[in-house]
Amino acid sequence: DLLVIGSANADLVIGVDRRPGPGETVLGSDLAVHPGGKGANQAVAAARLGARAALLARVGDDAHGRLLLDAQRAAGVDTVGVLVGGAPTGVALITVDPDGDNSIVVSPGANGRLTPGDIRAAGSLFHASRVVSAQLEIPLETVVEAVRSLAPGTRFVLNPSPPRPLPPEVLAACDPLIVNEHEAKAVLGDAQAGDRPADWARALLARGPRSVVVTLGAQGALVATARGVDQVPAVRVDAVDTTGAGDAFTAALAWRLGQGDALVDAAAYASRVGAVAVTKAGAQEAYPTREEVAAL
Ligand code: ADP
Repeated sequence: DLLVIGSANADLVIGVDRRPGPGETVLGSDLAVHPGGKGANQAVAAARLGARAALLARVGDDAHGRLLLDAQRAAGVDTVGVLVGGAPTGVALITVDPDGDNSIVVSPGANGRLTPGDIRAAGSLFHASRVVSAQLEIPLETVVEAVRSLAPGTRFVLNPSPPRPLPPEVLAACDPLIVNEHEAKAVLGDAQAGDRPADWARALLARGPRSVVVTLGAQGALVATARGVDQVPAVRVDAVDTTGAGDAFTAALAWRLGQGDALVDAAAYASRVGAVAVTKAGAQEAYPTREEVAAL
C-alpha cells in the first residue's frame, strides 16, 4: 500500500549536565542506541497501524544497519528495498541536557549513497504502492527520480525535512506537501507570507503542490487545497516526548490516503496518531497500534 523512501539512522543518545566547549571533555550518561531516521520512522509507524508498508533506504553493512533492519522487520515492514553497503549506516549523535534540549550531529553515511539508480532498480515496489512518501534526509536528485518513477495514479507525499529549496517538478507532485512551522518558513524563505499559519499554507499552495498540510504541534494541523483551508483539531494529551511525532503523523496520513480517505479525514486520523506518539518516550518505540489510536 505504502512505499516510504528515505533515511535510516542509528540515534546515539547521551545525557549530559552541560555540553563540552572546544577542547573540553565532559562525562555523560550511559549510551542509548535507538533506531531512527525519518524514513525508517515512517515505515515503522505505518506498519504499526496495520499498513502494508515497504521501505526503500540504504544502510551500512554494520551493527547499526542490522539494528535498523531488525526494527523494521519486527514492526512488519517489507525490507526487500533496504539496500546494504557502500558507507557506514547513518548516525545521529545526540546530547540531551537537563532542560531536555538536544544538540545533534548527523552523519548521513549510507543515506547519502541512496542514488537515482537505486530508485530505478526498485520499479516493482513503485508499481505495488498507492502512495509514495519521501523526506529530504537522502540526496535531492534521488527524490527527483522517485517523483519521475511514480506509477500513474500513485499519490506522492513529501515532508521536506531538513528543508531546502525544491525544484518545481517535485513541488508539483506533492499531494500533500507536509510541513511543520519551521519547515514552512524555510520553504517560503524570505517571501512575505504573513503571520498566521493559514497564510503560510496558502502561500505554500501557491508554490505548486496540489495540497499542503501544516502541522502545529499541540494546535493540530491545517489542510490547504484549492477549495480553501481547513483546521484539523489536535487531541489534548500530556506530552512526554515529541520526538518523531511528525514522522508518525505523515506516515498515518499517507496510509489513510491510500485507504481512500479524503485529505481532511486522513489528517484528522494522523493527528490522533501524532497525539498518542507524544505520550510516550522515543520515536519508533512510541508509535501506536490501530487499537491504541482507537482507544484515545
Ligand atoms: P514535528 O514533529 O515535525 O515538529 P509537530 O510537532 O507539528 O511536528 O507534530 C505533528 C503532529 O503530531 C501535530 O500536527 C499533532 O497532530 C501531533 N502532536 C504533536 N505534538 C502534540 C501535542 N503536544 N499534543 C497533541 N498532539 C500533538
